[in-house]
Amino acid sequence: RLEVKGLSRSFAGRAVVQDVALSVAPGQVTCLLGPSGCGKSTTLRMIAGVETTDAGEIWIDGQRMAGPGLHLPPERRGIGMMFQDFALFPHLTVAQNVSFGLSGPSAAKAARVRDLLERVGLASFASKHPHQLSGGEQQRIALARALAPRPQVMLMDEPFSGLDNRLRDGIRDATLEILKEERTAVVLVTHEPDEAMRMADEIALMRGGRIVQSGAPYNIYNAPVDKAAAAFFSDIN
Ligand code: ATP
Ligand code: MG
Repeated sequence: RLEVKGLSRSFAGRAVVQDVALSVAPGQVTCLLGPSGCGKSTTLRMIAGVETTDAGEIWIDGQRMAGPGLHLPPERRGIGMMFQDFALFPHLTVAQNVSFGLSGPSAAKAARVRDLLERVGLASFASKHPHQLSGGEQQRIALARALAPRPQVMLMDEPFSGLDNRLRDGIRDATLEILKEERTAVVLVTHEPDEAMRMADEIALMRGGRIVQSGAPYNIYNAPVDKAAAAFFSDIN
């Protein structure tokens, strides 16, 4: 489980993230949704540990990752990350890419890689190189790689925005299914309401660095907190 309380960050005296709180259970997806510049990526980067916090606390699985005087590095947080431009290593095969973050006996590593490649539907791609794969296939390999070490928490920043519309729905659904099976707590950043409606168990609507409303997608869609929130959802089909 991921717990975030009072998370805040300023750059050059300007508050970019203010008092953000989140709680995400294993197997649950929370979408941080809001317009460009509202602080979504900064929030995610602080949870990942690639950005420091000014205030607040981050807990994963009952362990404090960040707080007053504490900043654990990303590799000690038990998180996986997927970003739009999170490239695969071009000189490694698909199997080597997925295996990259794994330690331990090689038979166990190979079994984990095989299992994940099967579940993303790319078992026969193990010895190919990334440049031989389509964008959608690369994205599925990036998911397998991020999940390989069994992270408690998966942080995804607009991971599907580089894909064409035709592919996107299928990959979103396949990604959700695997994340649920793995019981990963997910924070997914998006500025697209329809993506949040499709993926989220809970939506946290952000504006100007703050969460202005949070709840089940259906509730937020039906009872937006104010006119700006309503307008933000209005072009959904
Ligand atoms: P988008 O949907 O466009 O990705 P976002 O919600 O992810 O937007 P952030 O990337 O979190 O927004 O940025 C929030 C604000 O903080 C922006 O105004 C941005 O310019 C500013 N900002 C982010 N990182 C830094 C930094 N390292 N130094 C200074 N300002 C920053
Ligand atoms: Mg962003």
